[in-house]
Amino acid sequence: MKNVLLLRFGELFLKGRNLNVFENLLINNIKKKLAGEKFAFHVTLGRYIVSDFEPERQDNIIEKLQQVFGLVSLSPAVEVLTNEQAIEQVVKNIKLDGKSYKVSVKRADKKFPISSMDYAKKLGTVVWNNNQNPVVDLYNPQLEICVDIRNNGRTYIFYETIPCQGGLPLGSAGQGLLLLSGGIDSPVAGYLMGKRGLEMHALHFHSYPYTSEQAKQKVLELAKELTPYVGSITLHCVSFTKVQEEIHMNCVPEYMITIMRRIMMRVAEKLCQKYNLGAIVTGESLGQVASQTMQSMTVTGSVIESLPIFRPCIAMDKEEIMTIAKKIGTYETSILPYEDCCTVFLPKNPVIKPTIEKAVKEESFLNVELLVNDCVMNEEIIEIK
Ligand code: ATP
Ligand code: MG
Repeated sequence: MKNVLLLRFGELFLKGRNLNVFENLLINNIKKKLAGEKFAFHVTLGRYIVSDFEPERQDNIIEKLQQVFGLVSLSPAVEVLTNEQAIEQVVKNIKLDGKSYKVSVKRADKKFPISSMDYAKKLGTVVWNNNQNPVVDLYNPQLEICVDIRNNGRTYIFYETIPCQGGLPLGSAGQGLLLLSGGIDSPVAGYLMGKRGLEMHALHFHSYPYTSEQAKQKVLELAKELTPYVGSITLHCVSFTKVQEEIHMNCVPEYMITIMRRIMMRVAEKLCQKYNLGAIVTGESLGQVASQTMQSMTVTGSVIESLPIFRPCIAMDKEEIMTIAKKIGTYETSILPYEDCCTVFLPKNPVIKPTIEKAVKEESFLNVELLVNDCVMNEEIIEIK
């Protein structure tokens, strides 16, 4: 008899030719996640089993597994060699603590001599006899005791199912570049794309000395807080000061943000080409601010030719984004009050419906190519693990 964890993964990727690639990624990600723990890992039909860990580490291991994209749920279970006595010994010790219950038996091993229905009844009686004032509820039990008699000579007994992240295994969608500000939305965008299998680099623009060293530290911290989910992040820090000063001096104030964003996008695209990244990710949400209208996104997006721009927060309310930020643990850092580069030169009346023609005209007063290349050449790279 031993304590194990049964892991369930999504069915989504079980179809199609990529099954092996996806499964291997998921298994690797699980093992990487548990590196440093003592454990054994087995694959059985449709399930993974983690066993032989230190009992006092079980909660930590569960917490780590709950961060692995691609796992749907897990159950702490007791594994016994399949025989009636061993199974009943475990079931006998289950404490209902006043909860209504039912026993479900799944019998994949047809050599086991009793039908699942009959055995469920029998085990139900065992629970009944070993608890005070038991209440059976076959339709809506508070505790469903599952007895899974597998083909491999082993039986798993469990009654708790802990939800995991779902999604697709990290890395299965390739690599992208997350535009990471110090705000609430972009870390959430990173998490959501990680959940669809995207590994990522991050790009942060700062306006030192207009923005403080603390503002940069905040972004490092946010990137660090994302790593339990999206793995290590290569963070590219780029000074945007010169760009902002140039725009400030040469362009009309209403287009300041539009032009800034277009230059940010160009820098992002260049970095994607340099590091072989296949998508740009932002935390934009439709209508949240002037730079996030349909027209603004058209004008900023139009400078990108070779890549998709993923905006996973596009249809979400701020409340919904905040709920995710709190769940993944980035919220408290995001609300620290340091200046963002975009707020430093903020114009009073940014244009809400910019046009490409006008943006192109304003950019003609700048040497855009030089500014973009300068940004890319002077990037600072920080590995966040
Ligand atoms: P966030 O909460 O992510 O900062 P926001 O609501 O403040 O978003 P904006 O400041 O308009 O919105 O930024 C929109 C998106 O542009 C951000 O989600 C982020 O992806 C990107 N972005 C903004 N500022 C920066 C920056 N300094 N460095 C890198 N990306 C940025
Ligand atoms: Mg912001």
